[in-house]
Amino acid sequence: MSIATARVGSNIAFIKYWGVADATLNIPLSNSISMTLADAHTTTTVAWDEIGALENDAFVLDGVAQSPARSQRLTRHLDILRGLAGVTWRARVTSENNFPTASGIASSASGFAALTVAGCAALGLELDATRLSAIARRSSGSASRSLFGGFVEWAQGSSDADSVAFPLYGPEHWDLRDLVAVVSGAEKKLSSADGHLLAKSSPLLDGRIAHVNGWLAETRRALAERDIQRLGPVIELDALAMHSVMMTSSPSLLYWQPGTLDVLQAVRRWREEEGLAVYFTIDAGPNVHLICAAESAPEVETRLAALRSVERVIVSGPGRGPQLLDEHLI
Ligand code: ADP
Repeated sequence: MSIATARVGSNIAFIKYWGVADATLNIPLSNSISMTLADAHTTTTVAWDEIGALENDAFVLDGVAQSPARSQRLTRHLDILRGLAGVTWRARVTSENNFPTASGIASSASGFAALTVAGCAALGLELDATRLSAIARRSSGSASRSLFGGFVEWAQGSSDADSVAFPLYGPEHWDLRDLVAVVSGAEKKLSSADGHLLAKSSPLLDGRIAHVNGWLAETRRALAERDIQRLGPVIELDALAMHSVMMTSSPSLLYWQPGTLDVLQAVRRWREEEGLAVYFTIDAGPNVHLICAAESAPEVETRLAALRSVERVIVSGPGRGPQLLDEHLI
C-alpha cells in the first residue's frame, strides 16, 4: 500500500467565506482572510489499495467507521485525486480531529486539507502548496486556506487555477490567540457546504458583499500593524454580517444557541466596562471564537470557564502549515 499521514491546522476566518459564485468549483463571492490554528488540527492517514482488495473507500473518522452515506463527500474528493494520478485504486482513510467535528470550528477545512496533503503524498504526486490549495478548495472552500500557516488570504479568483490561498504573514508575525468557547459540541443539522447554496436567497447578501472589500483592506492593515483595536471591530462586524445573511436566507439558518449570545454579551461587558481587549467572531455554528493578544489569553480563559453556558475552552495560537508525519493511524 502507498501510505502517507498529514497533520493540518484548522483555521479561523477573520473575514468570512459565505456563498458561492460557482458551486461546482467552490469559487467564493469574495476574498477571505484567516489565521491557521496550531492547536485545533486534523491528522489523516491515506492508504491506497493498489492490489484491489477494497471494493469501496473505507473511512474511519474519530474512531467511528463511517457509512457509505457519510463517506460520500470523502469519496468525491478521492475521485479528484484518483483523476490527477490516473488510478482507480480505492483508499483506506483514517482521520482524527482533536476538536469537535461539524460545530463551527472548521473541521471540514482541516479535514479536507489533510486529506489532500496525505492523499497526494501517498500517490507520489509532488504538488506545491498553491496547487494543493486549489485541490482542497474543491471539497471545502475554507480548506484552501489551511494549506498555509500563519495569516492567510484566499483570493476569490475566477477559475480552478486562480481561486487559491496565499500567505500574508507567517505564524511568528503576531502572537494572537483564538479561544473557542464551546457552548455546544453537537453536530450542526445543515453542513456549511449546503448553507453556502442558500446565501443568495438572503436580501442582505448584496449589502455584505458591497462592504467586504473595505473590511478586507482594514483587516490587512490591522495585521500589518499588529493592532488588535483595529482588527477586533472589523472581524465582529463581518461575523455579524455573515450571520445576518444566514438568518435571513430562505430557509433561515440560525446557528446561535442561548450560550452563543451569553458569550457575546459577556465579551462586550468585559471590553466596555473593564477595558479587556478581546473580540469575537463566529463561524457557521454556535461556538464563539474570542480573539485577543497572547498576554490577555489567561484572563479571558478564566472568565470564559466561569460562564455557565461554556462547556469547554479550546485555546490556540497561530500555527504552521501542513506537516507530513512518519507515524500512521492505520
Ligand atoms: P465545520 O464547521 O466543522 O467545518 P462543516 O459542516 O462545514 O462543519 O463540515 C463538517 C463535515 O466535514 C463533516 O460532516 C465531514 O463530512 C467533513 N469532515 C470533518 N472532519 C473531517 C475529517 N477529519 N476528514 C474528512 N472529512 C471531515
